[in-house]
Amino acid sequence: MRPFQYTRPASVANALVSIAQPGSKYLGGGTNLVDLMRMGTESPAVLVDVHRLPLATIEEHAGGVRIGAMVRNSDAAEHPLVRERYPVVSQALLSGASAQLRNMATMGGNLMQRTRCEYFYDPTFQECNKRHPGSGCAAIPGYNRMHAILGASPQCIAVHPSDLCVALAAVEAVVQVRGPRGSRSIPFADFHRLPGATPAIDTNLRPGELITAIDLPPMPWPRRSHYLKIRDRHSYAFALVSVAAVLDLDSAGAIRNARLAMGGVAHKPWRVPAAEQLLVGSKPGDEVFRAAANELVRGARPHRYNGFKVELARRAVVRALSSAAALV
Ligand SMILES: Cc1cc2nc3c(=O)[nH]c(=O)nc-3n(C[C@H](O)[C@H](O)[C@H](O)COP(=O)(O)OP(=O)(O)OC[C@H]3O[C@@H](n4cnc5c(N)ncnc54)[C@H](O)[C@@H]3O)c2cc1C
Repeated sequence: MRPFQYTRPASVANALVSIAQPGSKYLGGGTNLVDLMRMGTESPAVLVDVHRLPLATIEEHAGGVRIGAMVRNSDAAEHPLVRERYPVVSQALLSGASAQLRNMATMGGNLMQRTRCEYFYDPTFQECNKRHPGSGCAAIPGYNRMHAILGASPQCIAVHPSDLCVALAAVEAVVQVRGPRGSRSIPFADFHRLPGATPAIDTNLRPGELITAIDLPPMPWPRRSHYLKIRDRHSYAFALVSVAAVLDLDSAGAIRNARLAMGGVAHKPWRVPAAEQLLVGSKPGDEVFRAAANELVRGARPHRYNGFKVELARRAVVRALSSAAALV
């Protein structure tokens, strides 16, 4: 690990001053960044430790719920406002990592975690456009079982590893940030980026911006929701495919509103509004769920080792929707 400076500002304003130093990075719980520093994949010159900033509350806000960026993943998952009003968010958090990691990881850090693509993570691989733009992508000809089937580019086929982010995409969360030029709100769909020609850039956060909170918007209906994660082991494994499904049924049992997001398949949580629209007006059932699943994976382009993900994704969507529909 390369030597680095460490600073722990006491306020957001001081954090914004510290982050202006060249080569500096925010440090949340450190569960991802410190790993990457040990590997030599990331080597910040200054760590600006923000995890003790007073941004660790969960409260009702504008009819919804505001979760401070420094709230631990485990605290958010167990909080009554999250569990009762947004069960899909709680379930997604609890499906991630291990209890020990969730006790350290912060909400802001979870959004910013880097891909788990082996070729990115391990700097002994020379080719990685995410680490060294222009060097190539070793995953495309390599072992790509965990990689993207949707939204990838000839430069990068990595996937975003977060479970939480899939649920946040489904409930249309809004990310609150503060930066040198003031505060702004970023709709979740615009927070992460597809790789395109610039895979080194994961998000639309501007230099120096700090995530301060995540807003879960008012939704009368996300209680009928389910997060399904398919993985190689029952715990402590990243998703091969995951689905956040949220349904609103009218008094006759027809679908009034639906939200669907998939994880493990793309460089960002994958949503296709047309798939959600297909469900509206129908009674829950395998046929319409399968139609929505087909729409969600339309245009999938698997690689040598991950062709299985296409049908796995379809089946996971049908199962997640069936589980959500069965809730009372
Ligand atoms: C073995 C293992 C298994 C895991 N399994 C899963 C899993 O199954 N599902 C899952 O979702 N996750 C999983 N994780 C990832 C884990 O959830 C993340 O490491 C964690 O959420 C990152 O949060 P952190 O606070 O520790 O971030 P850090 O490691 O501190 O930071 C990560 C990045 O976020 C930036 N950052 C941190 N806070 C802010 C902020 N407020 N504003 C702007 N930038 C910020 C940092 O600069 C850094 O680039 C796993 C991790 C490990 C080590």
